[in-house]
Amino acid sequence: MSIIADNLSAVRQRIDAVARKSGRTGEDINLIVVTKTRSVAEIREAIACGVTDTGENYVQEAELKFGEIGDIVRWHMIGHLQRNKVRHVVEFISMIHSVDDEALAREISRRAEAIGKCIDVLIEVKVSGEPTKFGIGADEALRIAEGISQLSGIRVSGLMGMAPFLADPRETRPYFLQLKELWDKLPDEQRLYLSMGMTQDFEIAIEEGSNMVRIGTAIFGQRA
Ligand SMILES: *Cc1c(COP(=O)(O)O)cnc(C)c1O
Repeated sequence: MSIIADNLSAVRQRIDAVARKSGRTGEDINLIVVTKTRSVAEIREAIACGVTDTGENYVQEAELKFGEIGDIVRWHMIGHLQRNKVRHVVEFISMIHSVDDEALAREISRRAEAIGKCIDVLIEVKVSGEPTKFGIGADEALRIAEGISQLSGIRVSGLMGMAPFLADPRETRPYFLQLKELWDKLPDEQRLYLSMGMTQDFEIAIEEGSNMVRIGTAIFGQRA
């Protein structure tokens, strides 16, 4: 087996093992394979191993890769998205994890509606209290989720968040707990996905209720 195949299989086993601690299985956890900076060849290799969802951070890079790979996977935008770039992604993106203001949501909806699409969006919440660049506070997240719930080109389907990078991943637990508690306050129809957990902390995130993890390094190795 190749390294990517090996790594994927190990990650899937770890996801399944930790999901079982809370009465779920690996099938209940959506794995988004984060492909930023990875080559088309590497992505194809992952797809050959059954990967169905890929996450990209940068619009231009995502566009180029979509051009080569096409819609044999679902493309997720997980990086910050500027309003003036929305028109470049609506055609091929299935889910946008990084909606952190209402005007951005309205633009996504408007553009999606114009081409007869409905795009899943997650509200990106800043829970770390750290001066991270993007994401919004808890109260504001609920307010925005409500404010954009009627737009017909998007479907508000949950929350995304990141814990701060801590030397001991176990210390991320309170941040994930906070996000899960916020997610529980969403109306039923918006409580589909809780996107939290990356290479260094996905097991903790799943223990705290995540059902969608975004993993790159554990699958492809350290970025050059
Ligand atoms: C890069 C990135 C990931 C994946 O991080 P790894 O540590 O490589 O697993 C997940 N989410 C976001 C928002 C990212 O930018």
